[in-house]
Amino acid sequence: MVERLVRHLQVPSNKAPNLEQRSTDDTLGWEKDSAKGELAKVLGQMATLQHRLLAEAQQSLLIVLQGRDASGKDGLVRHVMTGMNPSGVKVTNFKVPAGSEKMHDYLWRCHAACPARGEIGVWNRSHYEDILVPRVKNLVPEEVWRQRYRHVRDFEQMLVDEGTRVLKFYLHVSHDVQRQRLQKRVDNPESGWKHDPSDLSDRELWPKYGQAYEELLKETSRADAPWFVIPADNKWVRDLAVAKIVLAELQDMNPQFPKPPPGLKGLKIV
Ligand code: ADP
Repeated sequence: MVERLVRHLQVPSNKAPNLEQRSTDDTLGWEKDSAKGELAKVLGQMATLQHRLLAEAQQSLLIVLQGRDASGKDGLVRHVMTGMNPSGVKVTNFKVPAGSEKMHDYLWRCHAACPARGEIGVWNRSHYEDILVPRVKNLVPEEVWRQRYRHVRDFEQMLVDEGTRVLKFYLHVSHDVQRQRLQKRVDNPESGWKHDPSDLSDRELWPKYGQAYEELLKETSRADAPWFVIPADNKWVRDLAVAKIVLAELQDMNPQFPKPPPGLKGLKIV
């Protein structure tokens, strides 16, 4: 069943994702009432496999989250990483590069944030900001951001070759749902602090970001490091879709407990 979901949401290598044609409010044939229970079940299975992954300490999983403002990246981290052992999960929120980050190539901070063997790394924004933002805001000449497609493909391939699985999720929301969420954020005294005036200027650049994502997903989705377009207008769909894909990957990784040292049989601890 998950194969069908993967086929439906994965961007094939070198194929345009056709974001405009992809629904943001698809419920993927699921019912909201049963989705909560289903998510709990999936998270339980993920936790069991993560326990083994950490014990095995041979493979890593990198989960990249991208999407427009208010597309739900933070919420996804909160809902889907729940239940995992925090010792083995490394979440990184990538902000506008500052300090020593600016003094190095753009992949420097990303490489440092990669999960170690046994760990799951979650990137809330990523090296993809270094293609999107300079492009949309005309910060560097085109050849500079364009050659980064090649850099990130090679970088991710290197990670894969060295034992890291890479899954990339684009949280796809509609223009109107973004408006509703930004409005709610402003109206609620407990979330007003999250308001960033640059979210509004980025909203004005909606079509430019759309074009940039369209090309970026085509250029960088690969069988070994695929992009998935997740319908994200409904939070419950978003969470369940990502969780199911992550679970399927962990199952495929099939981590195993290391063999205990010899001589345990009959050993009595005194
Ligand atoms: P978020 O919006 O993800 O909740 P912030 O409000 O802190 O978190 O926003 C992070 C900001 O940093 C975003 O506007 C994003 O575009 C920007 N950013 C992240 N990485 C880069 C980068 N490499 N280059 C330029 N801007 C970046």
